This record gives sequence, C-alpha cells and structure tokens, in this order.
Amino acid sequence: MLKIENINVYYGAIHALKGISVDVKEGEIVTLIGANGAGKSTILRTISGLLRTKTGNILFEGNSVASMAAEEIVKKGISQVPEGRRIFANMTVEENLELGAYIRSDKAGIRKDINKVFERFPRLGERRVQVAGTLSGGEQQMLAIGRGLMSQPRLLLLDEPSMGLAPLLVKEIFSIIKEINASGTTILLVEQNANMALSIAHQAYVLETGRIILSGSAKELAESEEVRKAYLGG
Ligand code: ATP
Repeated sequence: MLKIENINVYYGAIHALKGISVDVKEGEIVTLIGANGAGKSTILRTISGLLRTKTGNILFEGNSVASMAAEEIVKKGISQVPEGRRIFANMTVEENLELGAYIRSDKAGIRKDINKVFERFPRLGERRVQVAGTLSGGEQQMLAIGRGLMSQPRLLLLDEPSMGLAPLLVKEIFSIIKEINASGTTILLVEQNANMALSIAHQAYVLETGRIILSGSAKELAESEEVRKAYLGG
C-alpha cells in the first residue's frame, strides 16, 4: 500500500533521514520505534507532504506522493494524527471533528462519521460541546484520533499516541488502535513505548539516528536480544 523507497530528508544542513525504506502492506499495523530524535516523526511528516525528500520516492497505492501538496495527500486517503495532538483548543469537540472533514462536502456522511466517532469514543460524545482545550490528556488524544478518521483515511499515521498518558489510558488507546485497524484502516504507528507498539503491530522497524537498523515481524523484534536490551528494558 505504502512504499518508502530510500528517502533522504534534510532540515537545512541536518541530514535527518538517511536512506530510509519502509513497506506498509494493506491491513497491517506497522510500527516505527527508536529513541528520541531518531527520525520517526520526520518520516510521518514527509509522508504527509509537510517535508520534502531530497532523493528517493514515496509510493501510495503505486503512485508517487513525494511531491504532492499535503491536502492532495489527504484526499488520496492518508491522514496524520500529529505528535502532541494539536487539537484546536478554543473550538468544541464537534467543531474539531468537522474540521477533520475539511476535504469532504458530503454533509450527511460527515454527520454520520461524527456519530461513529462518538460511538467509538463515548467520552467525546458526552462532551461534544465542550471546548477541546479543557479536555483531559487522554480525551484530547481520542479527539485527535477521531479527527484523523474524519477524512476517511485508508492509511492512518499515528505519532506517539501514548505520549504523556497514564498506563491505563495507554492500554485503552492501544486497544482502540487495534479496533480501528480491525475495521479496515491500515496504520503506521510511531511510538516511544516499544513494548506496547510491538504488542499490537504486525511489522516493525527500529530507527537510530536517521537509519533503519533492524526490521522484521513485530514478534521477531520483540524477541530479539538487541531490541530487548535497547528498547524494552532488558
Ligand atoms: P521524538 O520521539 O523525540 O519526536 P523522532 O524520532 O520523532 O524523535 P524527529 O522529530 O523525526 O525524531 O527528529 C529527527 C532529527 O531531526 C532530530 O535530530 C531533530 O533534532 C531534527 N529535527 C526535527 N525537526 C527539526 C526542525 N524543524 N529543524 C531542524 N531539525 C529538526
């Protein structure tokens, strides 16, 4: 579904991604793990069209999206839930969801999908007119995921959904990610919480300073001595 082919990405003189290749098959959850600054978020921002590759290519369903505008990429079926959630704090829960559907004009369909988000996240449904900035951290993460789903993506990019959440909420968010995947959305998941990410993913890539140092099935990597020592606390 998504093929990242040998991309090199720079921030000015900083060479952030050094020949990265990643393959995401339809129906899978693929996770990118690695320490702070390894380049995980940079990969997601490049797929979304917020950053450009210097060399290499990104193919989505066989077509290059590497030089497409971010909005066009959303229209193609890729949606990103950014790190730190970036919800619109002064708008209500419902308005945030409506904004997630900005590329659509089917009012009835949008309504239906807002209700679907409320079914998936009942806590958001109870707070539909609450200003989003007053939601708890976990609720804000749910809203960010819900907003990401409003463009009806076939590929959802999730950047550290567990960040700053209490363990119980982390579990809840991960089980929601599994459910979203089971209902047909392919997922590329960036996580610091390697244990949780490997427990729900099919495939995994380990990044270190802009390079992929290991890849394989999530099960293989979870059992690997190297990964256990470096990322899973022994
Ligand atoms: P984290 O988990 O901390 O977000 P990450 O693996 O997602 O880490 P990136 O945010 O992709 O890492 O950063 C990769 C590298 O690019 C880092 O060295 C970082 O300092 C650098 N970088 C990221 N954003 C910028 C920017 N806007 N300008 C310059 N350098 C940047």
